[in-house]
This record gives sequence, structure tokens and C-alpha cells, in this order.
Amino acid sequence: MENHRFILQPSDIPHAWYNLAADLPQPIPPHCHPATGDPVGPDDMRPIFPDALIMQEVSTEKWIEIPDAVREKLAIWRPAPLVRAVQLEKHLGTPARIYYKNESVSPAGSHKPNTAVAQAYYNKEAGIERIATETGAGQWGSSLAFACDLFDLQCKVYMVKVSYHQKPYRRSLMNLWGAECIPSPSTDTQAGRAILEKNPETTGSLGISISEAVEDAATHDNTNYALGSVLNHVCTHQTVIGLELKKQMALAEDAPDILIGCAGGGSNMAGLLFPYVKDTMDGHGPRLIAVEPTACPTLTRGKYAYDFGDCIGMAPLACMYTLGHSFVPSGIHAGGLRYHGMAPAVSMLHKMGVLEAQAFHQKETFEAGVLFARTEGICPAPETNHAIRCAIVEALKCKETGEAKCIVFNFSGHGHFDLLSYDKYLAEELEDYELPQEWIERSLAELPKSNIPVPV
Ligand SMILES: *Cc1c(COP(=O)(O)O)cnc(C)c1O
Repeated sequence: MENHRFILQPSDIPHAWYNLAADLPQPIPPHCHPATGDPVGPDDMRPIFPDALIMQEVSTEKWIEIPDAVREKLAIWRPAPLVRAVQLEKHLGTPARIYYKNESVSPAGSHKPNTAVAQAYYNKEAGIERIATETGAGQWGSSLAFACDLFDLQCKVYMVKVSYHQKPYRRSLMNLWGAECIPSPSTDTQAGRAILEKNPETTGSLGISISEAVEDAATHDNTNYALGSVLNHVCTHQTVIGLELKKQMALAEDAPDILIGCAGGGSNMAGLLFPYVKDTMDGHGPRLIAVEPTACPTLTRGKYAYDFGDCIGMAPLACMYTLGHSFVPSGIHAGGLRYHGMAPAVSMLHKMGVLEAQAFHQKETFEAGVLFARTEGICPAPETNHAIRCAIVEALKCKETGEAKCIVFNFSGHGHFDLLSYDKYLAEELEDYELPQEWIERSLAELPKSNIPVPV
């Protein structure tokens, strides 16, 4: 049997994160103040973020040292395995080699602890005692709960009310790691109380939960806020994925022709791709593909513009592909991909033509996930199914052309808390949604103004 699992040791965990900003031909446009439209400075961010992360957010240093205390915690599960999906290849009858970087082996079951651990560390170092955050389906909340527990920080998670009731086991995980998790909107914040007064029956939204978490952080001296995707420093923390991949590809004596990641806010894909982007820009790197749902087609149908990071216009403006902050995606099961915007660095790469984007319907992604589970054995997260679908499509193209390409995708998480969604798929109760152009145009009409021009 040929080796098909490429395993590194904790000593192989990178000593520095790679910062793509150093290699981009233009600076990443700055975040802007939601009220004035002017670039935000460190003073604007200091009430809710520690200085170290504020510096990383605007850094153009190519390498940012990973503190030993962070590497030690990452070593609880890292390096993550690189696996060649030989059973999937066999089933497809493709000459392509398909590999997946398995980020589902983390304690919370996804790539998110890679940044959660780093963020908890820097907050602890800054003397912060407590972190407030929001979570939708619960992946981020549980990752941060785990990380805060490692560094003896208190953690409060405002979880979108509908998910709080639909996904009780994510909440159980947060409690297990010592975090407090409450349904949002809550009566604990002014933002929450105002919404409940107007609409006591509301099921909540990510935008509302963000408002509550930010208010909590801004009004408590000992408390900061943490975000699980989109920001530059989050993408940078995720580059341990691609840096490990390079070593593992060398072990496999192979090199990627195509790199694929699913994209919600863009961070897991950024982690996989960013260390390869310079090669691609220089004309000798892999094809880079972002995969998103047709129901939330930020890169494929959105606009490159300044927009609010949240849904209600309280968070800073970011220069990114967006469907408009008021865009409400239909109820697809890939909760982590239902974000109206995209990381500014990822957005720039797409604008530059370095990063391709593809969109798939929900049912075809679940079909791919079920095939993966029935060949490789692991049940993928609904978000991850998007990357798998794309990898399968590319592998089948190779079957037609006879090309033996090397395809690598990021296995961003497992689906053990998403089995109700699989039940629905198997019972043929899942739906595909056609997204009318008018809906996108309606929310794009509400884009705010910034005082910084969008680069062309
Ligand atoms: C949160 C999440 C995503 C989407 O977030 P990105 O920032 O785009 O990576 C994808 N997959 C899983 C499993 C997630 O939990």
C-alpha cells in the first residue's frame, strides 16, 4: 500500500504566521469608522481589542512570530493531518490526486481554534479577564470557549436565539469548557433589551448578537471582544494550515495544481491559500478557488465596495466583496457561509484575478458530503461540503481530459453537530434557492459611503 497520510510532529508547527499584506502589490484598504467614514486608528479599536492584535491587523511584516505559549496550545491537536482521499479517488475513477487538510481534528471540530487560541493568549497578556463574543451555529462560540478555558479567561457567548434552541449540543460544549452562553437578544445588554421590547418573539440574528457582544466589551473595562473570521489578523492566524501543508506536500513528493476552500468570511480558505498566493501572482503557483453557496454568493455576485462588517451598521466599514449588510440569506444549513461580506485580503485577491470563485447549490454540496462520508468515512460540516463538491467537479474534469492533477482542499470541519441537516437531506427535505437579482440590488442600494476610495 502507498502512504496516503502525511503526518507532522508538534515541532513542525510553524514558528511564525505568514502575513500576506507583505507580498500584495497594494496595501489592504483600511477599515473605516461606521459614523465618519474615516480610517479607524488604534484608539478606536482599543476599547475592544488588545494592542497586539490591533498591530497585527495593520501589519505589513511578512512573518509574525507565534508565541511559544500559543504553539504549546496549538500542539494539543496540531499539526493537522494531510490525507490523500484514495477511496474517493477510486470511487470517482479519476486520475487526479485528491488531498484534504483535516482541520476537523481540533477540539471544537474546525479550523476556528487556530485563531481562538491566539486571540485568547493576547488578551490574557494584555490583562483582560473576560471575552465577549457572538456565535451563529456555535462553531466560533465553542472554539473561543475552549481557548478561553486554556488561558483562564471568562467567556460570554451571545448565541443567536434560533440556533441556541436548534443546536443545544454546541451550547453544551461551551458550558463544558466553562463559558456562559445565552440566547440573543438577551436582557443583559441595552441593545438586546431594545430589540426585545420592540419584538419579544424575535429569533435573533448574527447582527443583533454582534451588537450585544460589542456593547458588553465596550462597557466592561475587564472585557474585550473577539471575532472568528474576516479580519486580517484572523486570516493571518489561520496560515498555520497552509504552512504545514507545504511541509506535508514535500513529504508526499507532490505539489498542488489546485487549492480549494469554502468561504464564509474567508478565514479557513485564507489559511490554506495565502502561503501559496505569491507563487500564483508570480505565475508559477496553483489555481486558487473559493467556494460559496449560491444562496449567499458574495464573491460571485456581490460588489467590491466599503460596507459595514455587521448587519446593522455599528461595526467598522471594510473594503470587501459584499451583498450589502442588509442582505438576509435564505435558511441554508451551511450556517458559517451565510455572511454578507468577505475578508478584505481575500476580496482583493479576487478583484486582482488571482483567486477564482465558484458557487454551488445546497443539495449538490450535501450529495458531495454524503459521498465523502461513504468513501473516506468522515462526516463533513455543511460548510466543508462546498469545498468537497468543487474538488469532485475538478477531479471529474481530470477524468475527462486524462490529466493527473493534484487537487488539495481544506476540510474545515466535521458535521457531528449538523446531523439534523443530514437527516433532512436524506429525507429529501432540503431545498435549493434561486436568488433573484433584485434582492441583491435592493441590499446593495443601501451601501454606506466611506471617505476612502475603493482601489481599482
Ligand atoms: C465558520 C466555518 C466556516 C466559514 O468560515 P471562514 O471564515 O470562511 O472559514 C467554514 N467551515 C467551518 C467548519 C466553519 O465552522
